Amino acid sequence: MKQPDNTSWALDTIFVHSGERIRNASTMGTPTAQPIYASTTYLHQNVEALDEAFDRTSTSAEGEAAYVYARQGNPNAHALETVMARAEGGVGAVAFGSGMAAIHASLMAAGIAPGSKIVASKDLYGSTISLLRKVFIPLGIEVVLHDLCCPGVADIIRAEQPDVVYVETLSNPLVKVIDLDAISAAAQEMGAVSVVDSTFTTPYLVRPIKHGFDLVVHSATKYLGGHADSTAGVVISAKNSLLDPLRSYATILGAILSPFESRLVMRGLKTLSLRMERHCSNALQVARFLQEHAAVAHVHYPGLPGHPQHALATSLLGSGRYGGLLSFELKEQTREAAFRFMNKLQLCLPATTLGDIYSLVSYPPISSHRDLTGHERESIGITEGCIRLSVGIEDVNDIIQDLDQALMN
Ligand code: PLP
Repeated sequence: MKQPDNTSWALDTIFVHSGERIRNASTMGTPTAQPIYASTTYLHQNVEALDEAFDRTSTSAEGEAAYVYARQGNPNAHALETVMARAEGGVGAVAFGSGMAAIHASLMAAGIAPGSKIVASKDLYGSTISLLRKVFIPLGIEVVLHDLCCPGVADIIRAEQPDVVYVETLSNPLVKVIDLDAISAAAQEMGAVSVVDSTFTTPYLVRPIKHGFDLVVHSATKYLGGHADSTAGVVISAKNSLLDPLRSYATILGAILSPFESRLVMRGLKTLSLRMERHCSNALQVARFLQEHAAVAHVHYPGLPGHPQHALATSLLGSGRYGGLLSFELKEQTREAAFRFMNKLQLCLPATTLGDIYSLVSYPPISSHRDLTGHERESIGITEGCIRLSVGIEDVNDIIQDLDQALMN
């Protein structure tokens, strides 16, 4: 059977068809949607074929992979990796059991070792900061955190002479925008490996490899899966030299994604473009509403003309497409006011995640940035009145009505 992969397909078609129907199920007929291969082991014709199959576990070319033992690769993870590599324009991808496992492996694959230096954004996702502090610094790796969402970012990177530069496309929770081209160019000039977490943007909004990045990381738990039912991560590589170590870390550390979770993310990807379109349009309308609200002091959303990087966001992400995530400051800058607001919500869920079909509200000081001290949160602009909102795909009027009633005193 002809494999449904065509190099001229647009992104939306890649998400719908790519990675499916890779294996011909002989005379039985080929399933339209890939079955879940729960098997931990794979049998081959004879021991000679098994011997040969070991050489073709999922490091081999697309469609030709052989499977021996599930930790070394399975058809469902392989299908997901195929779609994501194609969607991001990479040479390959590796799926992981969570976004954090993907971030860990990306930094390891980037070649860090005792004495290496990582320069990273100071407003990264809180657990990524914890990974740098609790795992990498004790191993003798130097970690330098900077505001990398500011002008002159290339000079900062040149001055630091790092081995690895690590950023997020949009910062969490203040949704600052990173100048991907300036950062990747400076990293390349210094011989550093550039890694970007594109969880908030997804390939629907930006494809960082086109902007010069070496590795792109996603928490697929968020928009890629999109339905609050799978925990997963993926790293896409622009270079074969980085893909091999990624695969090794996934299999040696046992950080691979299970067949069930892989299939759930694959299913989510099929509607990613439709969902992102709605997330973006809803978020823009919600941001405009909040901006005018008497109980709100400030809204952080790159789609608002007053956002300091509105022009950069428009050139990077495209007009009218600024993502589904925003944050805002309550006029009453207290934890009590934030809790009161969240407790009054009836539609928006106070759940600690983002990127789902549901509208989700979180309070960074007790969730994503819990591990940081109050002073550290303040230094990156996260106040006690800061609320993060991941705008879902519900009817936007219902979202606005719920926020409005919860903001009323
Ligand atoms: N990267 C970002 C930007 C995130 O927001 C998160 C989780 O919230 C992660 C990575 C970690 O992903 P996971 O929870 O799938 O390990």
